[in-house]
Amino acid sequence: MEKLVIIGAGIAGLTAAIYAARANLQPLVISGKEEGGQLMLTTVVENYPCFPEGIMGPDMISRAREQAKRFGTRFKDGNVEAFGIKSGGNNIGKENVYDVVVDGEKIEAKSVIIATGASARMLGLESEKKYWNRGVHTCATCDAPFYSGKDIVVVGGGDSACEESLFSAKVVNSVTIIHRRDAFRASMIMQERVLGNSKIKVVWNSSVEEILGDGKKVTAVKIKNVNDGKASELKTDAVFLAIGHIPNSAVFKGILDLDENGYIKADSRMRTKLPGVFVAGDVHDKIYRQAVTAAGMGCQAALEAERYMEGITRG
Ligand code: NAP
Repeated sequence: MEKLVIIGAGIAGLTAAIYAARANLQPLVISGKEEGGQLMLTTVVENYPCFPEGIMGPDMISRAREQAKRFGTRFKDGNVEAFGIKSGGNNIGKENVYDVVVDGEKIEAKSVIIATGASARMLGLESEKKYWNRGVHTCATCDAPFYSGKDIVVVGGGDSACEESLFSAKVVNSVTIIHRRDAFRASMIMQERVLGNSKIKVVWNSSVEEILGDGKKVTAVKIKNVNDGKASELKTDAVFLAIGHIPNSAVFKGILDLDENGYIKADSRMRTKLPGVFVAGDVHDKIYRQAVTAAGMGCQAALEAERYMEGITRG
């Protein structure tokens, strides 16, 4: 029986592992299919404290992994296919046991931290893969400063697209939002801010059909007007996709409470509705989605798991 299983080995899961291992919970981390999470898909991270020169995302993950190992964390490669309550259920105070099924193998755990992350929704174009991190990005807060003084495109019409455009407008020369409809989905206050910003313009009723480049970097996007089918090209130095994220929570549906977008619900102490089951990072957080906030939640979840386990031991 495991004391603590951590599902996910991104920065949230690894931070939870560092704290839990130092608290002698001997955590077992299930690495998952996108091992290392979204930071593995990033180049330089410039906004994580303590790295004044920046640090490569994959380097950050391998350091966190080493740090977790140093205190006795164990790692298991594989995908969690199922999660369930073995005994205890919702009866707070009872000693609960959970089943975590990894590639057919059932692991029993007294406590679980879910840190399975989220994946950015993509347009599904070959060219977005080709220019990934060479002009195509999914986090303006992270990467817009690399385009200081340049022209960029943001795709989407929700709060993320508006927020990322407003953030980018502070550092780039111009932002063009391309949105597939004639109205934003974003909250009214965000819409007003975007429409009132002289550095941001909006191309309505348009879809991005292709991302064009010179083989090394993005140079333009091919756009189609969805009403009249007219195609056009718009020069740009970068394309930021802000068309939503998909939280990796399918395995927990029906067992834990998810919101309407699939994010796992938890209280401010990262506790889900099941005693001993905690969340951390982007599978729970649709607002901040930063490495530093995910790491912070990993810390919180591990401290809560420690308290929970102490309660069980004492109780
Ligand atoms: P979202 O609200 O789901 O918006 C996604 C946007 O992308 C929509 O405008 C959608 O168009 C568009 N889109 C989706 N798939 C597309 C595709 N294949 N091609 C082109 N466009 C596509 O996602 P989000 O903006 O990331 O926000 C997610 C949640 O987090 C929301 O609840 C939001 O309020 C919240 N959030 C809040 C804040 C904040 O409060 N500061 C910041 C960020 C996010 P349609 O409109 O036509 O569907």
